[in-house]
Amino acid sequence: MTAEPASPTLMATYSPAPVRFVSGRGTELFDDGGRRYLDFLAGIAVVSLGHANERVADAISRQAGRLVHVSNLFHNELNEHLAQDLDRLVGDGSPAGGQVFFANSGAEANECAIKLARRVGGPERYAVVSALGSFHGRTLATLAATGQPKKHEAFRPLPEGFRHVAYGDVAALEKAVASPGVTAVLLEAIQGESGVVVPPDGYLAAVRRLCDERGILLVLDEIQTGLGRTGRWFAFQHEAIRPDVVTVAKSLGNGMPIGACWARGDVAASFVAGDHGSTFGGQPLACAAAIATLAELQAIDAPRRAQEIGAYLAQRLAALAGVASVRGKGLLLATVLEPGLDAGEVTSSALRLGLVVNAPAPEVIRLAPPLTVTTAEVDEAVEMLGAALVSVRSAETGRGGAK
Ligand code: PLP
Repeated sequence: MTAEPASPTLMATYSPAPVRFVSGRGTELFDDGGRRYLDFLAGIAVVSLGHANERVADAISRQAGRLVHVSNLFHNELNEHLAQDLDRLVGDGSPAGGQVFFANSGAEANECAIKLARRVGGPERYAVVSALGSFHGRTLATLAATGQPKKHEAFRPLPEGFRHVAYGDVAALEKAVASPGVTAVLLEAIQGESGVVVPPDGYLAAVRRLCDERGILLVLDEIQTGLGRTGRWFAFQHEAIRPDVVTVAKSLGNGMPIGACWARGDVAASFVAGDHGSTFGGQPLACAAAIATLAELQAIDAPRRAQEIGAYLAQRLAALAGVASVRGKGLLLATVLEPGLDAGEVTSSALRLGLVVNAPAPEVIRLAPPLTVTTAEVDEAVEMLGAALVSVRSAETGRGGAK
């Protein structure tokens, strides 16, 4: 798809595709020409209930007419309610006994987790070990935690106290946490942005044991994987472990900007008034959207839907010509393409055909549709992706690329 000239008014931090969506309903999106698309990206794993979900829209509009914002200098009746709902999901249905700080994005939720880990560790123990290939956000501290050296280059010097080890490698992590000064391990349960990379079974459980042995916090970034997407409320629940800190954002407000950092009660207690804050974090409007989102996700049994429809989607994707393998869990899936096929070109071709997906790595296409997606929509999307693969493969073959 031909790129449009850069915007004269927007900083060029993104290269958006040449389409302008103006409305949506469920899995469908409509552009400014009235053309229909199927959204198998969901705003990067954000609109888990689909676009224009009625329950969430209604909660937003009622709250907007009542009270949008008061600041955290006062109690509001919604953030405590939401914190309780979130705590129950962290506990897989029973209270987990934690406390929550509300922010406005994933990066801010992780900033909170990093500051909390430093508060727990004290001035001699502040290092955070995270994984190569990880993505934790774009603020300076979360960028430093992000294990992608290329993203660091233009912004050095970054905050100190961040180390990286190979993802999925317990021995490498053991070595890194053996050196003094480490307060926390920060990991994604599945690495979403680097291409839906799933660690070996048992990895998180082994990391939990390691953290216990060393008295180090286990912080899980569930910003992309959380709230039902992988087939459990949180991806760590696949391994039946309990992290010390969990961060969420993305789907928490079904598109309304909100992030949260949950921590075990005794860990959360390290923060005192004045240690951290946010003007907007936990404001009534965002919380009303999130309360409605969590209620609806529970009403539709989102983890079960993700598991069942995800298994069907994975099986259909694996049968497509040009797909070497499918990985992921639930409805956070990726197809790894056969050598010679460019995922960026396949994504552009799919968009021309009416399917929204993205390419987090040159050979990987990510699929993260709303958890409300139907099997008929899966069939339609797989048809379009198959046609996109055929068209890119024939163009590549013409150029002497893919066989
Ligand atoms: N952590 C993970 C695992 C993410 O996938 C993302 C965003 O893609 C972030 C953190 C950052 O979230 P945000 O863009 O809301 O700051």
